[in-house]
Amino acid sequence: MTILEKIDHFGNTVPDKTAFSSEEGAITYGELLLYSGRLARYLQKTLPAPQNPIAVYGHKSPYMLVCFLAAARLGRPYVPVDRFIPPYRLNRILKESQAALVLALDELGFEHPQMRKEEILSVCADSAWDAGDPFPAPLGTDILYLMFTSGSSGQPKGVPVSYSNAESFLSWAETFLESGEEAPVFLNQAPYSFDLSVMDTYLALTTGARVYSLTKAVQTDFSRLYGAFRESGVTLWVSTPSFAEMCMVDKSFCQEMLPGLRRFFFCGETLRPALARALKRRFPKAKLFNFYGPTEATVAVTAAEITDKMLEFIDALPVGRVKPGGMIRIVDEMGEPLPDETCGEIVIISDSVARDYWNPEKTLFSRFRIWEEVGVRKWSFRTGDRGYLKDGMLYFCGRMDQQIKYRGYRVEPGDVESNMELLPAVQNAVVLPRYRHNFVVGLQAAVTLRHAPQPGDFGQIAEIRKALSQLIPDYMVPKKIVILDRMPLSSNGKINRAEVKELLENERRSYFADDCRVVRR
Ligand code: AMP
Repeated sequence: MTILEKIDHFGNTVPDKTAFSSEEGAITYGELLLYSGRLARYLQKTLPAPQNPIAVYGHKSPYMLVCFLAAARLGRPYVPVDRFIPPYRLNRILKESQAALVLALDELGFEHPQMRKEEILSVCADSAWDAGDPFPAPLGTDILYLMFTSGSSGQPKGVPVSYSNAESFLSWAETFLESGEEAPVFLNQAPYSFDLSVMDTYLALTTGARVYSLTKAVQTDFSRLYGAFRESGVTLWVSTPSFAEMCMVDKSFCQEMLPGLRRFFFCGETLRPALARALKRRFPKAKLFNFYGPTEATVAVTAAEITDKMLEFIDALPVGRVKPGGMIRIVDEMGEPLPDETCGEIVIISDSVARDYWNPEKTLFSRFRIWEEVGVRKWSFRTGDRGYLKDGMLYFCGRMDQQIKYRGYRVEPGDVESNMELLPAVQNAVVLPRYRHNFVVGLQAAVTLRHAPQPGDFGQIAEIRKALSQLIPDYMVPKKIVILDRMPLSSNGKINRAEVKELLENERRSYFADDCRVVRR
């Protein structure tokens, strides 16, 4: 069965069962089937023929899923964009994806061919759109969704995930679910513009479980968050480790709060042994799984259950064994395979690897390639992650490049720098992660201004931050910004990032307020 057939099966057999609920509303499997069919028929009539993608803009409304499935029925890729992505960046995503239309469940804030929430709801409620020919079944190579992620040049880059990519991921991920669960409820924490959400939402919808989704407002208010957990009935937790770490601040976050919780699925960033140990103590009935993979390989390609034994003996947790049919190879700078237990770049070879970026990068060596080995001919992706294999188990050792994970989000410092340099006041920007105990706790930036810094410029830090938050999402905006009178250069005339790092680290003053001073060297 295809993904859609699986979801529709529940629409036909258990139409009254809740498929999704959040603070923004709830929807049953029957409604999901009916509404997405109606919306698809309406769009089929009204949209021009080329199969351009359809962007879906909103947050945690149940109609997000209606829109995703409507696009899928039409065989058009959907592009999920969370409303916390500022309009400027959304606009760039629309341009890059060539989206034909935005299904806007929230106010767009600018002109673009769009269908507003009221129109979407009215089409969904209109039985005139019930009748019609069946939609053509998608081919495995058709694109299900286009996920945009941080690109080092400042332009978000789109990863087209095909039906066969997604099916390859889901059929494997399903094997980690608890079998025979009576009322499975899967936690959705990630926004729909982060591919981690595919793990909870599609795993739930294709197996008839309920998605319990947390809005950003609930996630950032502890009393509401814990209240939500208590009433959620969540049995499977899917989140970044950062989110679980945040929930741990109060001791009441434990098995009594989530009595039905049996599994934690973590993905997207390093799972620290200390967090894993603490979770095991607080949730004695739950098992922990660490998944690893980039968006380019569809959510995750390796996974391991974190056992008590692992936590006794090692201080770096494995990210697991590769999914069946896939392979992990560790290679050196020349792309040559390295022996076991030797650290190198992680290459993923799997049916869930995408073919390339939406608009392929114009670099000489694509990171996507056909991998050929005796008996194997599959797409591979050079991740830029460092790691090693030991007895078939993969260990993650960090990045080869500047890319970081902050609160589970993927951030290219170059993306932030390019956006900072778009600001009229900023000449040059260098963005670096701030670490505490080897974990990224935020971003920091050093900037030079277009005009010579004056004492009165100090208030500009707040202005830069404010202007920047119009261009990029909050989590990408550096918390600490320091104005330099000039950028340190290396002997070949390039910005000396090591020196900038040192400068930033030696600047101990708080830069959260407007009281910044220019650092003269
Ligand atoms: P994204 O495409 O946003 O899912 O980010 C993918 C990147 O997140 C990977 O290339 C890794 O650098 C990192 N990552 C994903 N899963 C893990 C994990 N379990 N442990 C450590 N890093 C991870």
